[in-house]
Amino acid sequence: MAKQAVQLSKKKRTKYRFQKLKMCKKCNRYSILKDEMCPTCGTNLVGIESLVKSILKKRLITEAIRILIVACLGIVFAPTIKTMYYSLFAGLIFCFCYIALTTMFMKSEYFHQLKKLLRTDFRKIQAGIQFDSDLAKADVKEQRLAMADEKLREIGDLISTDRVKIRRVMVLNEIALRSDMELELEGLIPSSYDRDFVKYALEVLKIKRTLISKKCIAYFIHYRDAIVIDFGMDSLISVAGSALRMKLYILEFSTFIEEFLDHFPKERVLRLCNIIHANPEVEWGSLKDKTMRLVAKKYYYDPAFKRFTIETERSVSHV
Ligand SMILES: [Zn+2]
Repeated sequence: MAKQAVQLSKKKRTKYRFQKLKMCKKCNRYSILKDEMCPTCGTNLVGIESLVKSILKKRLITEAIRILIVACLGIVFAPTIKTMYYSLFAGLIFCFCYIALTTMFMKSEYFHQLKKLLRTDFRKIQAGIQFDSDLAKADVKEQRLAMADEKLREIGDLISTDRVKIRRVMVLNEIALRSDMELELEGLIPSSYDRDFVKYALEVLKIKRTLISKKCIAYFIHYRDAIVIDFGMDSLISVAGSALRMKLYILEFSTFIEEFLDHFPKERVLRLCNIIHANPEVEWGSLKDKTMRLVAKKYYYDPAFKRFTIETERSVSHV
C-alpha cells in the first residue's frame, strides 16, 4: 500500500511533561492533546497550571475570609471599646501576614498543590488520556494519519510505554517520511525487539542519519540476530556506517564497525580515514590497522585516499 503524504505539525515543548495537561471543567475530563477546545462539549480547556493557580487563589481568599470572620466575632463580642480595637487590629495584621507569607512561598505552595491535584485526580487523568487514545485510534481508522501521529506524540510525551511507542511507530510507517519533518527516533525505542520500530528506524536512517543515536545503535547491536532475519545484513551495514558520525561513536562501537568495514561504501571509508587521520593521539586499536589495510588493498589507485596510502607505505617501510 502506498504511503500517505502528509504535513506533520511541529511539537510544542514545555519544561515539564505535566504542563501539557488540560481539563474541561464542564465534562470534568483531562486531556493531553494540543486542542484548545473540548471535543465533546466545545468548552475552552483550562491548563493544569491555571487550574492549580485558581485553586491556590480560592484557598487564599477562603482562609483570609475565615480570619476576618474570627476578627469580626472578636469585635462583636468585645466587652470594651479597647478590646474591640485590639480584635480589629489583630485580625487585620493576621490576615495581612497570612496573605504576605503565602505569596512569599507561592512557588513551593504551587508545586505542593500541583502534586496533590495530580495524586487525587490520577484516575481522572488516566481516563482522560484513554479518551485521547481512543480519538487517535479513530483517526487511524479514518486514515487521518498526521492527526493520529500528533495525538500519539502528545500522549507519548506523558506516557512512555512500549504500547504507545509502537502504536505511533505503526502510524509513522504508513506516512511518507521526509527530511524536513520533525522526526523522532530515540524516544520511540522500545524495551524489547519490535519489527515495526526497526522498519521505522531504517527509514529514518535513509533520510536523517543524524537521528541515529548511541542508544539506537546499541539497540541494533543487541537485537542483531532478529534484525538480520527480518531485514537482512544490509540493515546492519547501514547502522554500522551511521556509527561513523562521531568520533565517540566510533570508539564505542569499534568492534561493530570493524565487522562491516569491508562492506562500507567508499564515502564511509573515506570519512573513517579522515577521522582517524585527524586524531592521531586517539588509541584506535585494531580498527585503524584494518582500515589502513582495506585502503591499501581496495583504494590504492584512488586519489581521494592518496594521502592515507602514502602514510601506510611509509609506516610499512619504516618497520
Ligand atoms: Zn467538555
